[in-house]
Amino acid sequence: MSANGKIPFLDLLTPHRELGAELVGVFNAALSTAGFVGGPMVEEFEREFAAFCDAAKCVGVGSGTDALRFALVAAGVKPGDTVLTVPNTFIATTETISQVGARFDFVEVDDRTYTMDPEKLRVYLETECRRDSRTNRMVSRRTGSVVTALIPVHLYGQMADMDPLLALADRYNLILIEDACQAHGAEYFSEKEKRWRKAGSMGHAAAFSFYPGKNLGACGEAGAVTTNDEGLAREVRMLRDHGQSRKYYHDVEGYNGRLDAIQAGILRVKLHHLALWNEQRRQAAERYNELFAPMRGSIAVPYQPAWSRPVYHLYVIRTSSRDELQQRLSAAGIGTGIHYPIPLHLQTAYAELGWKTGDFPVSEEAAKEILSLPMFPGLRAEDQRRVVDVVEEFASARSAS
Ligand SMILES: *Cc1c(COP(=O)(O)O)cnc(C)c1O
Repeated sequence: MSANGKIPFLDLLTPHRELGAELVGVFNAALSTAGFVGGPMVEEFEREFAAFCDAAKCVGVGSGTDALRFALVAAGVKPGDTVLTVPNTFIATTETISQVGARFDFVEVDDRTYTMDPEKLRVYLETECRRDSRTNRMVSRRTGSVVTALIPVHLYGQMADMDPLLALADRYNLILIEDACQAHGAEYFSEKEKRWRKAGSMGHAAAFSFYPGKNLGACGEAGAVTTNDEGLAREVRMLRDHGQSRKYYHDVEGYNGRLDAIQAGILRVKLHHLALWNEQRRQAAERYNELFAPMRGSIAVPYQPAWSRPVYHLYVIRTSSRDELQQRLSAAGIGTGIHYPIPLHLQTAYAELGWKTGDFPVSEEAAKEILSLPMFPGLRAEDQRRVVDVVEEFASARSAS
């Protein structure tokens, strides 16, 4: 609880106060060398973040959105292709598909993990597509074009069910890009490989965001692509820097999507704390789970499958009277969020694509009932207790009336 008695949804002030001297040191080092873009700071961070993700390569870019866009292009998604993703994600996932000239279509999510349902993907590929006899690839009946890629989103810090998704990607010749923008350090137990695997190491490539509020956040905008494919990494390195292989030799048209040296230096400082911060988030999640245990009938806590070791970017509960509960918490000085209130297929931006309410009922129902509670490293047990007390009072008043 802060001095004013409020419990914030996210405390971004404390970590920056605690690391202040080190972060200012990064800035001063950059001033003394005037190295602001690229350079050793970026390369060091890339090495360290690749190692953190168990990925062979990491390429730092300007944002998570850049990372998705460059990963799609570098992996070989072409204008006119169809790329599949989920309706309940941040719009950057679909924006970048459109921005590379491809079309997107949605696969519904699992009701408990809120991540892409592999069974629904299988049904989509088997019943909503036809096989093109010439290329032997799947053509979506909805979009009329070849499905070439898939972007599962590791939402809230929980990984999608990757084994069956990878098996389907393999069977249908699809590129799999992980949207790992909320999942730095999340792990998945692969039955196939009999080992835990990290977010960012499983697909052809993965996109990470270092937006300040993410589990690993810059002091500004930043992102990264991770991959085990050296050719793909080389391609992303060109794309982020105007398609040049060396200065003023442009092999392709690219973008201005580089990672600042100062942000890279800041990310290096914070990366050293990330494993501990993620562990603190897990402990906070466990504490919430215990506190909510007596309320199982009215409040659903996050589902954690045996194959999942999430990093709780968000702690999302579910209840039928969400809006009233959010107001009640707000009145008690407790910050919350909704991730996300409107599934993408119902957004105004996509109105002309013809989706309607009822097309993705699992996502739509979740959007009405989900509520993200305060979650950050350093969240105090007594503050969690207070959050849950307010929820409990609210729930028992409702069931009494
Ligand atoms: C944050 C986020 C992005 C975009 O990252 P930016 O760094 O803000 O561009 C993409 N996808 C998901 C799921 C995100 O949470």
